Amino acid sequence: MAYIILNKNHFFNNLDIISKSTKTRDKIALVLKDNAYGHGLFEMASMAKEYCINKAVVRTCKEAEVIEDFFEYILVLGEIPTSKSQKIRYTINDMKSIQKYPKGTKVELKIDTGMHRNGIVESELEEAFAKIKDAELLLECVFTHHRSADELTSEWFWQKENFKKAKDKSRKLAHEFGFGALRFHSSNSASLLRHTDFDEDMARVGIAAYGCLELPDALHVKGLKPVLSLWANKISQREVKAGDRIGYGGDYKAPRDCIASNYDFGYGDGFFRACANGYVSASGAELLGRISMDNSTFATSEEKLLVFDNATVVAKYAKTISYDVLTALKPNIKREIIEHSD
Ligand SMILES: *Cc1c(COP(=O)(O)O)cnc(C)c1O
Repeated sequence: MAYIILNKNHFFNNLDIISKSTKTRDKIALVLKDNAYGHGLFEMASMAKEYCINKAVVRTCKEAEVIEDFFEYILVLGEIPTSKSQKIRYTINDMKSIQKYPKGTKVELKIDTGMHRNGIVESELEEAFAKIKDAELLLECVFTHHRSADELTSEWFWQKENFKKAKDKSRKLAHEFGFGALRFHSSNSASLLRHTDFDEDMARVGIAAYGCLELPDALHVKGLKPVLSLWANKISQREVKAGDRIGYGGDYKAPRDCIASNYDFGYGDGFFRACANGYVSASGAELLGRISMDNSTFATSEEKLLVFDNATVVAKYAKTISYDVLTALKPNIKREIIEHSD
């Protein structure tokens, strides 16, 4: 079966770059949702701990439980808990959900500053604070999410402005309702790395830590290195004659005699079928024909094939984004951590 290699040096290199912006490792909250962007939740959590990251962000309560021993603080973005926890904080995404959290739960209030997906708007803040107080929840933090931090438009600026207003109002309300001092955060990878003056309590960093952040040239960040590479083993090799066709549908017709080797990976492992049109592996071998469920044929005789070492390249072939390529990788693929510098 195909396997994944995680490069610890690249991960730490990316965290070095990120901590230049946050100024301290303490303010990095590593986003580990969706099996750590396909990298492997447990593997990435253990490496993050080694780097002294003490905060994490996940989608589900289950993910939070798996990594509870690795971090001091975990934020769950998308689920309402059934029991409260010391370390785990839960997001309030909607006014109506406030009464569903167990009493004493530590919560963070999501503000809709323009994405119009989750959260409450600034004008509802007072009502939300009152409901949180009534429900006897512990409000620790107010946060938002940018819809276009990775685009060269004015949107990032006006969303920041909207959040600033929400922060000011929240501070006043926290005082009135007798909550303690609030924390604030709003940055994902793109937003953090375009700040020159980051001053919030933490940043929620995902794709930059995995080394696959793509930004317009003007916002480009130098030196990030992809952490994940996908490898496959050769199952068989043959010589095909000019005119022979390969794989389902016989889509590929060999223009000349050549070596064709079949490798043990396919869309069953989460590799996109959409790459069939002319994909070239990171080792330079051309894909011949379609991608099957568990098989893919390349014009090479290599025993081990480096399918890709940068998800942004695959994303271009599949007309999607690196997040999609990475999170599609199935959790049952073996993940191995290596340490080597290059
Ligand atoms: C996924 C997510 C992030 C991380 O975004 P990146 O672009 O990967 O850094 C941050 N905040 C929220 C709310 C998210 O859902």
